Amino acid sequence: MGDVTDLPRLVVASANPHKVAEIGLVLDGLVVLEPRPIGLPDVVEDGETLEANARLKALAICKATGEAAVADDTGLEVDALGGAPGVYSARYAASNGSGAEGDAVANTTRLLYELASIPAGRRTARFRTVALVCRPNGSELVASGTVEGYIAAAPAGDGGFGYDPVFVPVEGDGRTFAEMGEEKHAISHRGRAFRDLARRLIGT
Ligand code: IMP
Repeated sequence: MGDVTDLPRLVVASANPHKVAEIGLVLDGLVVLEPRPIGLPDVVEDGETLEANARLKALAICKATGEAAVADDTGLEVDALGGAPGVYSARYAASNGSGAEGDAVANTTRLLYELASIPAGRRTARFRTVALVCRPNGSELVASGTVEGYIAAAPAGDGGFGYDPVFVPVEGDGRTFAEMGEEKHAISHRGRAFRDLARRLIGT
């Protein structure tokens, strides 16, 4: 039986405590996670894809620490909105001036407003996560995960974060992610992306 010192070590690029907790739960026992060092500047996420943004974040932390770093970037793709907000999910309310960047209540409020005339059967959506490891030698690993669902008529639940109160996974029982607690991780985009990443890490 190996001990913890045999496990891959990664610095987590995210400073979002919700995300860090989710990643920690999914990778528990598979990877040793180090927190992002305090005081590093925020990374400007101006990539045009989830993978580009994940790479920007992981590379910045890898360069700053000299250690392998892991980052993820997530988007919510709503079919009735042509895949929006997608890579712009964090800035959805900011992009029409209805709220600040990263304001989850403002983002979900705009989403429900945009979908107000869309009936239940056409509110299909998915979360997509790209998880990416950058190593100091320049090599990288990329993994992704998705979960299909639909956008609820109104927010429900107080767990999770971001768009969780309005996202109902099709593999569930009608509850939103925000009503599911830790059950979310078994089927979520982030759970799937990080389990895939762990398989690749351990196999390399
Ligand atoms: P980012 O990956 O941190 O850039 O997240 C993009 C946007 O998606 C932000 O508004 C997050 O709040 C939201 N988001 C990211 N992951 C999740 C999730 O697991 N559930 C709900 N919203 C999320």
